Amino acid sequence: MSEVSAFKPRQSATELHAKPSADYADKLALTQALLKRAAVEFQPVTQASSLGAEDVVITHLINALELDIPVFVLETGRLHTETLALLERTEADSRAPVQVYRPQHEAVIGFVRQQGQDAIYQSIELRKACCQIRKMEPLARALEGKQAWITGLRREQSGARAAVELIDRSEARVKFNPLADWTWGDVWHYIADNRVDYNPLHDQFFPSIGCAPCTRAISLGEEFRAGRWWWEDEAAKECGLHVKPA
Ligand code: SF4
Repeated sequence: MSEVSAFKPRQSATELHAKPSADYADKLALTQALLKRAAVEFQPVTQASSLGAEDVVITHLINALELDIPVFVLETGRLHTETLALLERTEADSRAPVQVYRPQHEAVIGFVRQQGQDAIYQSIELRKACCQIRKMEPLARALEGKQAWITGLRREQSGARAAVELIDRSEARVKFNPLADWTWGDVWHYIADNRVDYNPLHDQFFPSIGCAPCTRAISLGEEFRAGRWWWEDEAAKECGLHVKPA
């Protein structure tokens, strides 16, 4: 386990956050209907999972509903040990197949050799170059030939995500965002209610979890994604996975 594990939280994330909205049951029913629709009408379809709280909810629903939807994870080579351990457990426990995509070894070696291991902190361009090698190129392979993909994006997560649609048809590949209108309380209510396995970093004030060098815990009052690429301007804070072409 990484150093952050030494910290013992007084309350777990489920204890802190599980609080369903008044219309939680309706939202859950809509999410289930959307996932069923994706599985029936949009094959081949796949779930993109970062193994964060939203994504473990979706994988749990896919398994509970016995849907024909495989799950893929981008293993960037820089994930926390807690995330890697959850990945192992997910691979062992999931009914739906879990596919792991890794970056091309030569590209990673070339980048680190040329720019150094800490280049990501030097400029946004170098950080995005790292995301291109470790995330975007493997993502393109994961999505090849797919008609649709499913994400855990929620409107509440950031200003840039405030207009996320349940079904986004604005690009060539349909994107399902079945938790778009869920609150953080809804997500944790589902996790608590269904005893879903989750990343213990969530118990240590990591609401949004990415690569280890680019994610930190947040403090009280900070925004949901404040711990991601915290040294950059707000506008730059996406890795490219969910950025629409200009
Ligand atoms: S999140 Fe950080 S470590 Fe991960 S791919 Fe992007 S820049 Fe590289």
